[in-house]
Amino acid sequence: AAPHRVHNFSAGPASLPLEVLQQAQAEFLDWHGTGMSVMEMSHRSKAYESIIAKTQQDLRALLNLPANYKVLFLQGGAYGAFASIPMNLLKGSSGKADYIVTGTWSQTAVKEAKKYCQVNVAATAEATKFTTIPERSTWNLTPGAAYVHFTSNETIHGVEFPMEAPEVPEGTVLVCDMSSDFLSRPIPDINKYGVIYAGAQKNAGPAGLAIVIVREDLLGRTIDTCPQIWNWADQAKNDSMLNTPPTYTIYMCGLYFAWMLRQGGLAAMQANARARATLLYDCIAQSNGYYTVPVAPACRSLMNIPYRILGTCAELEDKFVKEAEKAGLTTLKGHRSVGGLRASFYNACTMESVQALVAFMRDFQAKNPT
Ligand code: PLP
Repeated sequence: AAPHRVHNFSAGPASLPLEVLQQAQAEFLDWHGTGMSVMEMSHRSKAYESIIAKTQQDLRALLNLPANYKVLFLQGGAYGAFASIPMNLLKGSSGKADYIVTGTWSQTAVKEAKKYCQVNVAATAEATKFTTIPERSTWNLTPGAAYVHFTSNETIHGVEFPMEAPEVPEGTVLVCDMSSDFLSRPIPDINKYGVIYAGAQKNAGPAGLAIVIVREDLLGRTIDTCPQIWNWADQAKNDSMLNTPPTYTIYMCGLYFAWMLRQGGLAAMQANARARATLLYDCIAQSNGYYTVPVAPACRSLMNIPYRILGTCAELEDKFVKEAEKAGLTTLKGHRSVGGLRASFYNACTMESVQALVAFMRDFQAKNPT
């Protein structure tokens, strides 16, 4: 019998492709004839070395990553990176960093960075309640800043930067939190970035891992008080195995990366993401104002779509979430800080799930008219 699976719209940890879960299940007790689960393997064993090497190789293939970038698999999630970014980029610098604030996650990154450096908020969309992205021409970048940080997709507010990297002056180190749109689209100009990082638990695998991609020439700017586990140069030298890494999480990411390659890589992920989001945005547009999206059309996310019922009708929204849950459509409540509803469509989300959501929304509107 087919396994019981709901339509899961969680913003993270998020659903994984059924095929990936089934592969993990099939080799759970005995990985490739080793007589043990990957979970039970020494990270120094030949078997595990082959797993982590293949995981990195497939990630590099997906991203078309130039050889002068290091891939680090680190613990501490994206929150860890909020601290490890300044700690690894400040030595010998002006001690200043520019941040572009487009929502909760970039605000959180600023808060953490302030412990280590002088933060300049070079642009903020706070005045529009984070429903827009500040025009590049309005950014007030600091000459000589150690780096510029932005968040390519704000998971809570549902605003996403275009696929192309924002233009910054030559020599400026561009740092991006890609946690919630990493691996959902190609990064055509990847060499414009100094550092890209992402928590794995949305588009890349289970929680417990931060993927940090850093240009080699930036290694060596680490302040002396940086904890060793977040010292990128040390971790790069040790192939992310300075200490015991989250071995099983890395293995699961590896299965997911191989799946993405089989599907056609990031161009295919992007085509799927566009098709999913278009279906929901169109359904909302056709609802005659029953459902509304607060975000400006030009920067609407393909990954996280916040929306409201009748402006801000919390009563109907509560009812919607409860009835959806009963219909097998789960985790549609908006983040507690903004309210409303939110559907998150990561790589593992199928068109079938989005079709089920849209059908439910039309039915709900018909049964609960204005
Ligand atoms: N940045 C973004 C864009 C996120 O969506 C999240 C989590 O949802 C984080 C950072 C924090 O990630 P973590 O929970 O891995 O620390």
